[in-house]
Amino acid sequence: MSESITISVGPKTFVLDKAKAAEALAGKRVLNGAQSMFFDILPIKYQWAYDLYKTMKANHWEPEDIPMQKDCEQWRDASGEVKDVEKWIIKMAVGYFSAAEGIVGDNIQHVTRDLVTAPELKLVLGRHAHEENIHADSLVYMISSLGINPHECEALFRSLPSIMRKTDFVVNNSRKMRRDLDMTLPENKQAFVRNCFMFGQCMEGTQFYGLFGMVLALYRQNKFPGIGQMFRYTLRDESNHIEVFRNLIMDCVSENPEVWTASFKEELRNTMREAVALEKDFIRDCLPVNALGLSADEFCQYIDFIADRRLIDVGLAPLNGGKIANPFPWLAEMMDLKKEQNFFEGRVTEYQKAAALKVAHDDDL
Ligand code: FE
Ligand code: MN
Repeated sequence: MSESITISVGPKTFVLDKAKAAEALAGKRVLNGAQSMFFDILPIKYQWAYDLYKTMKANHWEPEDIPMQKDCEQWRDASGEVKDVEKWIIKMAVGYFSAAEGIVGDNIQHVTRDLVTAPELKLVLGRHAHEENIHADSLVYMISSLGINPHECEALFRSLPSIMRKTDFVVNNSRKMRRDLDMTLPENKQAFVRNCFMFGQCMEGTQFYGLFGMVLALYRQNKFPGIGQMFRYTLRDESNHIEVFRNLIMDCVSENPEVWTASFKEELRNTMREAVALEKDFIRDCLPVNALGLSADEFCQYIDFIADRRLIDVGLAPLNGGKIANPFPWLAEMMDLKKEQNFFEGRVTEYQKAAALKVAHDDDL
């Protein structure tokens, strides 16, 4: 009789043939694993991927559930209560993210999810791509609620050099990956890690945070509350996306240690250096004058702070010795949705499965 092994998934357990389970697990790799069209998630090797999938699903939200009345009034306000520069920030946020969310989702569907081989990795990346759809749809909702001309929005995205450079930075890399690559070659494995790093740590992890901070600074002053709330939900999603890419990098490197050379690590640090420089140019375009009591200099410092954190999180040396202070401690609190009880009073609560709410509650204790 063959030996058996007990596997558990959440509260459930079941029995598998030990040899078959070992063979299935051995075939699971980030890159170059067993190819199967059967989506064999069990037995799970990458538990983090399955757990993140569940967390992301429990955070589900729908843009239309967030009221935009106050935002519309403020958008049309001519009394001067809402300054032009504040409306400009909203326009930049809507313009940039309308395209950026699509770019991230497209890269996941056509590069990342295509290249990974383990089914549970494809599972979480499918959810990741879907969340980019929700984010893109939330921008459609903002644009249509405020009555912004979508062509104007697009024109902004295509004509502002600081936005174009940010876009080219990631799009060029994504494009290079769309051909039949021999993933057994070390340089192509490095290209995969570089792509994960650019999208997860540089773009979603660092370049999104300039505007996130500005929109939430407005939200804190009760300006554009609907948009602010949507950005808080988006930000919570992004923190999971950064985690997906971070885990992919770490596991890919541990399975392929030959790629993690001193020169490759230095190259990634330089990539982050470039991402930070692009973001600082962009911040200066968003904040031509000191609005909201916040200065462009402070936002640039915030980007240095975030970038160092991203580098450290993937095992790379920070650019500023990790010694930059966070100039916006209030932003960290606002990003940590679990700590705010009132936040769950809205309709979004209904999407939350009981288990997910329990986790949030336990964390508060
Ligand atoms: Fe997103
Ligand atoms: Mn994202």
